[in-house]
Amino acid sequence: MYPYIQAKSTEDLKIYAVISYGLSSNTYIIESHGETAIIDVGYGPPHSNIIETLGELKMSTEDVRKVLITHRHRDHTRDIKRLLEENDNMKIYIHRNDRDIVMENLKIGKDRIYTLYGDENVNVGKAKIKVIHTPGHTSGSICFQCSEIIFTGDLVFANGEYGRTDLPTGNHKELIKSLERILTLNINAMLPGHGEIIFKEARSHIKLALKNAMRKQATKHDNN
Ligand SMILES: [Zn+2]
Repeated sequence: MYPYIQAKSTEDLKIYAVISYGLSSNTYIIESHGETAIIDVGYGPPHSNIIETLGELKMSTEDVRKVLITHRHRDHTRDIKRLLEENDNMKIYIHRNDRDIVMENLKIGKDRIYTLYGDENVNVGKAKIKVIHTPGHTSGSICFQCSEIIFTGDLVFANGEYGRTDLPTGNHKELIKSLERILTLNINAMLPGHGEIIFKEARSHIKLALKNAMRKQATKHDNN
């Protein structure tokens, strides 16, 4: 019902992508040696249905202990509540700066939260996922890097698009710095929070986004 793409398949790592539909963000499922993690859960029915998608993939919510969230927005987080009810051992991994608002909006207890600060690793089976703090779209926005793949949330999208910075805690200058930061990483594929996923040469898409964001910054200065 919610079509998915197998974005990566090796012996140690499988990644499935459910591309956004309606109000929902993209959601990603990572599987490595019997452990499953989710990156962004989406808005929930009828726009997305992460629980149903896991079922279609013959995966169980019982195997999901880590739910990684790129940032606070509802299109990425709203279905957390329904998911947490499925498995008492499941925890939400979210950056310190975006944590409290999500806990408050979705009424999530402290015991279900694992706070991220940036630069730590989260292990899923044999896969190592690096947390990169990339503020700009929101102050607690993070990217996740898993070998040559980067999950960018709403920092940057395909074809030079980037996340808006006019919502609470958004900051255009920080977004530019965050784009510069991820350009220093050794990456090839980009799995963003919305729209098309990029299987190779992601850096060219990010470079274009940086150019576009810098141009916008320059225009802002002209107006001031
Ligand atoms: Zn967003």
